[in-house]
Amino acid sequence: MKKYLKNIRNTLSIRKLSIIIVTTFLIYLTPSCNTPDKSNEVLLAQAQQISKEILILDSHIDWPSRLLDEPEDISQEITQGDFDMVRVNKGGFDAALSVIYASPDSGVDENRAYVDSQLNMVVGYANRYPDQFALAKNPNDILQNFKQNLFSIPLCLENGAPIGDDLSYLKYLKEKGFAYITITHSKSNQISDSNFDTNRIWQGLSPFGLEVIKEMNRLGIMIDISHSTDSAVFQAVRHSKAPIIASHSSCRYFVQGYERNLSDTLIKAIAHKSGVVMVSLASSFLDSLCHQNWNYIFNWYDSTGISYHSEEGVEFALKYGETHPLKSNAKKLADHIDHIVQIAGIDHVGIGTDYDGIGPLLQPADMPDVSSYPVLVAELLKRGYTKEEIEKIMSGNFLRVWHEVLEISDSMNNSSVY
Ligand SMILES: [Zn+2]
Repeated sequence: MKKYLKNIRNTLSIRKLSIIIVTTFLIYLTPSCNTPDKSNEVLLAQAQQISKEILILDSHIDWPSRLLDEPEDISQEITQGDFDMVRVNKGGFDAALSVIYASPDSGVDENRAYVDSQLNMVVGYANRYPDQFALAKNPNDILQNFKQNLFSIPLCLENGAPIGDDLSYLKYLKEKGFAYITITHSKSNQISDSNFDTNRIWQGLSPFGLEVIKEMNRLGIMIDISHSTDSAVFQAVRHSKAPIIASHSSCRYFVQGYERNLSDTLIKAIAHKSGVVMVSLASSFLDSLCHQNWNYIFNWYDSTGISYHSEEGVEFALKYGETHPLKSNAKKLADHIDHIVQIAGIDHVGIGTDYDGIGPLLQPADMPDVSSYPVLVAELLKRGYTKEEIEKIMSGNFLRVWHEVLEISDSMNNSSVY
């Protein structure tokens, strides 16, 4: 996400203050976009057991950049953010695609240095706590780590800006083990137009972007179109030799006209190419009423220049939230999953929450952090999904796509034509 996190690095003390305020007052943000059903205790107990037994993978967690800003040790319980090993174990969570973030406002050199800082921190966890964390460069690593009761922290890059005009940087990322790259972020870049940016430079992908796609195919790095415009997504589907992914996107069907969410046509196109849509749980993505209310707040931020993370910004949202629903819930998240299953099939949907990226105000009321996956599993059980289908959603589909992308890479590199 991070669209509204642009100024964080300059306002750390304010952000910390704001988080304290959020934590203190969140309980007063009472109205929910949909009143959550009370989970049947038996169903939740069953979901907790299933969550322990199956592999749960989340394709988008922003913990590296958040932790660089606010250093704490996630091997134990921490006071801020959505992710630490105590909550991981409570949620039966097994693998977090660890988002290495690059800012649309930074130059190539600055972004590459920032990438390395986050990368070193992630690798540092695997080195310092080998009995808890393990890197993963392919689906087999994830499965092996799962068998050994190790938490997988595979890497991904959000924003292709650090590639600059240098395709060899992709090889560097591949060697470090990056699983996917979100090709653009909140501003159109040298690769792709952004769905958060009214400045559409390329009407989709740039000529260089087509070269990036080809090289990512060859190297076996998954192409993530979560922040790309509709035109760019269509072009990526058409030009990629491998399946593509949306690492943290929801369904436009429920929030009409919102390009950050995927249309039914795009979801079907991604599925037709054997790809996967990993549903984000930002309340403004899930529910049209929450979206409308958040739009009002974000417009106020834009017009006043006050940040989402400032004390005043948080107070404004909380005050507005007293009378206007801002938080969605697991039931609505399951509606998005149901919808993708209905139009594209059970093999093309997964979970990419954006924890540690969206902030506490945007999280669903009943899914506040990485201990929450069993709440979703309970909702899926209630809707009649089998354990095998739930495992596909919670990890299997993403791992299948990753495996196919690596296979296509192998075939391209072994082909004499290439
Ligand atoms: Zn994002």
